[in-house]
Amino acid sequence: MNFRRLLFVPLLVMTLLTSVLAGVAVAVDIGEPVEYDLTFPVDGPHYFSDTFWAGRSHGFHEGQDIMADKMVPIVAVSDGVVRLVNWTSRQSMNPDRCCSLVLRHDDGWESWYIHLNNDTPGTDDGQGWGIVEGITPGTRVTAGQHIAWVGDSGNAENVAPQLHYELHDPSGTIVNPYRALVAAGGNDVGTGDRDPLVGGARVLALGVVGYDVRVLQQILTNLGYSVGTIDGRFGASTEAAVKAFQSAFGITPDGRVGRTTKTALAGLSFSDPTGDILSVGSTGPRVVELQDLLKEKGYDAGPSDGVFGPSTLAAVIAFQKAERLWVDGLVGSATLRALGAAPAVSDPGDDASDPGDGSSDDSSDDGSDDASDDTTNDVVETLRLGSRGPAVEELQALLASKGYRPGPSDGVFGTKTRTAVVAFQTDEGLTSDGLVGPATMKALGDAPVSGGDSTASTDILSTGSRGVQVVVLQDRLSDEGYKVGPHDGVFGPLTHAAVIAFQRNKNLVPDGKVGPRTRGALGIL
Ligand SMILES: [Zn+2]
Repeated sequence: MNFRRLLFVPLLVMTLLTSVLAGVAVAVDIGEPVEYDLTFPVDGPHYFSDTFWAGRSHGFHEGQDIMADKMVPIVAVSDGVVRLVNWTSRQSMNPDRCCSLVLRHDDGWESWYIHLNNDTPGTDDGQGWGIVEGITPGTRVTAGQHIAWVGDSGNAENVAPQLHYELHDPSGTIVNPYRALVAAGGNDVGTGDRDPLVGGARVLALGVVGYDVRVLQQILTNLGYSVGTIDGRFGASTEAAVKAFQSAFGITPDGRVGRTTKTALAGLSFSDPTGDILSVGSTGPRVVELQDLLKEKGYDAGPSDGVFGPSTLAAVIAFQKAERLWVDGLVGSATLRALGAAPAVSDPGDDASDPGDGSSDDSSDDGSDDASDDTTNDVVETLRLGSRGPAVEELQALLASKGYRPGPSDGVFGTKTRTAVVAFQTDEGLTSDGLVGPATMKALGDAPVSGGDSTASTDILSTGSRGVQVVVLQDRLSDEGYKVGPHDGVFGPLTHAAVIAFQRNKNLVPDGKVGPRTRGALGIL
């Protein structure tokens, strides 16, 4: 047997996970990525990407889908014995030679082959064979031996033909064979491993067991929450930790880890290689400065010790929520600017004049002290139906850039513009009165559009955006069946095209920009 636990360290889980797991003999978790020597199961043109725990109409995917044409040969991945054909070991019960096959390898592992052909070649008649004649329960086969054909049986009837391939360890645990398939020479058109937490679509909650739960537990532990034993089992302690995390983060504390909570966790686990963005675990004088600034604003960031720990995190999150910033617990240029600090990196939207002099008395109106770097702040009059002029034109452009439909940017505040304003206000939790005063203007102007200067502080994702949010976007689009290219966190032409296609299908403005509407349709933050 040649198998090893894969301690790969993706986006989320920094080296702490490795140090905790190393040297501890634990059972393999459901969905755990493994390396395992095998012969690639499809012997012909094919492609695949990591689809373990992708969302499916009936639950979550626990295997890898290898796409290939009907009647492309399928082979044994290992020496072994056919245990089941068509889900039975009784030859009298599977006369159709169709649909599924379980191969027990000589080392006790098993391969499950599903969606085998059931059609007469060239038809979709459901009358054909998917298993090679003579391959029956009990048949001994050798690695590479032709045993079946690709098809579209079962719930693949209405989608493209494919082999659904599962790898089970000797205890029966379904592991993620993605790496094994890549190592076997498979044609991977994805991006590499999906993030084990964010990449999976399933919701983690009380009772759920798996590798993704283990990753979740490790991240929460790193953040200072107590989850009990890190064992890949979502029990009461883990639930309590999740609820505490959600409360601190302004997420409904339901103890269920869906996309919103996963995204928040991903943001927190983010580590910026340049060091420009401060996050949990950051240390040094810039953290001291951050802690002092938070304290000046009335937030309890704990002692100004230069260590970005849970207290500092809670203060940052509270500040971001209050300031209507992107709530991610990451301190990039947008948050620093809002705090009145000079950003660590030169920022195209920023200028040299520091608005910090307003920090002592700006609680009632912090929009007035930084007019120099915000083009929207020269608007003083409330804009309403019937208003005209360049301020309306800018309002319209801002609304359009966020995915709303205010009509042409003609500087005339008509009914379309009003409808768009009301929609924006509703989405933002503002009073939906269609009147554009300082609060609405601030909400419109607060969010940096695109840019790519900070990894997780953009409200609208578009070409050039980078970071964790883009990975989440790419994963979601991929789950929905759109081709986004590598899930690399870089919003490039393929992602742009996928967003436009998605928007078209959802009757959204197909502008390739991911604002509140598109996020909502995708079910992401
Ligand atoms: Zn499948």
